[in-house]
Amino acid sequence: MKRYQMLIGGNWVDSVSGQTRELRDPANGEIVATVPEASREDARAAIDAARAAFDRGPWRKTTALERGKLLFKLAEALTKEADALARLEVQSCGKPLAEAQFDVADAANCFEFYGGLATKIAGETMNVPANSLSFVVREPLGVCGQIIPWNYPLLMAAWKLGPALAAGNTCVLKPSELTPLTALELGRILTEVGFPPGVVNIITGPGAGAGEELAESPRVDKVAFTGGTVTGRKILHASASNLKKVTLELGGKNPNIVFADADFEAAVDGALFGAFANQGEVCSAGSRLLVERSIHDRLVAGMVEKIPRVKVGHGLDPATKMGPLVSAAHREKVESYIRIGVEEGARLVCGGKRPADPALAGGHFLEPTIFVDVKPSMRIAREEIFGPVLAVLPFDTEEEAIALANDTEYGLAAAVWTKNLTRAHRVIRELRAGITWVNTYHPTFNEMPWGGYKQSGTGRELGLYGIEAYLETKQVNINLDEAPLGWY
Ligand code: NDP
Repeated sequence: MKRYQMLIGGNWVDSVSGQTRELRDPANGEIVATVPEASREDARAAIDAARAAFDRGPWRKTTALERGKLLFKLAEALTKEADALARLEVQSCGKPLAEAQFDVADAANCFEFYGGLATKIAGETMNVPANSLSFVVREPLGVCGQIIPWNYPLLMAAWKLGPALAAGNTCVLKPSELTPLTALELGRILTEVGFPPGVVNIITGPGAGAGEELAESPRVDKVAFTGGTVTGRKILHASASNLKKVTLELGGKNPNIVFADADFEAAVDGALFGAFANQGEVCSAGSRLLVERSIHDRLVAGMVEKIPRVKVGHGLDPATKMGPLVSAAHREKVESYIRIGVEEGARLVCGGKRPADPALAGGHFLEPTIFVDVKPSMRIAREEIFGPVLAVLPFDTEEEAIALANDTEYGLAAAVWTKNLTRAHRVIRELRAGITWVNTYHPTFNEMPWGGYKQSGTGRELGLYGIEAYLETKQVNINLDEAPLGWY
């Protein structure tokens, strides 16, 4: 069992209180590591370090080229350690190894993308109605508090750090108390490739205390958060202390719409992958499957037939397609939704319980679960469950599909399956969601903006939009006429 420390000001430290937390493999309960349990005091020390590195350190004065090169080195070093990082990610949050390997590669690609973008940050010159040379320069925001969840620990760290560092900010990253290990390994690698002390600080501790301090502190210029909508709202309130910039990536109850003319087998695969990838612990999960009534029963039967292929097991078992849920408490929450679904009158066509295999008894496993006869008003059709629970609803017309899809307080992701090109465009145009797909589900690209409409968040991460969220905009006006103004 490894004993980890936190990264503050370039030093590896314990928490001020000396308290630690044991982290267990969600697949079997074995202790994987201990980490310091940070409190507000530790968060303040990390903010001090980030503040010093931004206000007085060399980082802000590095050239964009130097920052870009460091990010390229980071991507390369991460790739060299990809195998160990992927295995650690599996033991931290339970996901299947193939998914963790994808996450590590994607995290490296994210750093590489922003390494390239560092040298493309540019202002502009405007032709103003005065004798003035007027131009816009872009500058880093300052100290960024970055709070990330447990479902994609390394990837979320990359999405936050990549653009922030490319733009010249300094950061305090707080991973979820449940899954901080790959972020700490990333901190080690960052230090090894030459990021100066204090530029990235990583504290491990709960949202209550350590996280709150980052959101509230007037010495933090921006807070970037990924997690639940309830927490997002608290962070927005807390950020009012100094009106810090805020980016929120929150939950979803995402519609996956299948029309009768879709490629049937592709739609079956897409529905299963949309719902059960990463155990359904995905903000963009296709957790509401809307199916044209004429193929509803056949599509459900097609999914149920394939469910045995969604093999549940330890993520390090190469046969596994779905790992355990992240914690006992989270599994109980998901199970409570399954009970609610049954009580509300929805019908289970598969899953709904823990797997019978005694080899899985020590982990937080749950079978992939599908409900039919779901009404739009039911809680399982409205609330984010964040687990392997799919609600299937029929529709009769394109208009009804659109109305059902948009009948949610969320607006993160949505997909349409059809061979009719004009219908695909028509429906996508009507969907109130920030991420949309046609005839596929889940692919994400570092080049493309990620974020939601409505209560799925505010702002965008990734792509060019992602770096915008870490830049200030300054106008400079140089008077080219030195004569007195003559106003008085
Ligand atoms: P949270 O929103 O509670 O946690 C996300 C991050 O925020 C964690 O690092 C957490 O710390 C931190 N945090 C919690 N409360 C505060 C606070 N008041 N101030 C600052 N930081 C805080 O998500 P949970 O992990 O509890 O999951 C709850 C639900 O959120 C899930 O069931 C799911 O519906 C949704 N969710 C959505 C995600 C998404 O990607 N959109 C990701 C994860 C969850 P810590 O956990 O260490 O206490």
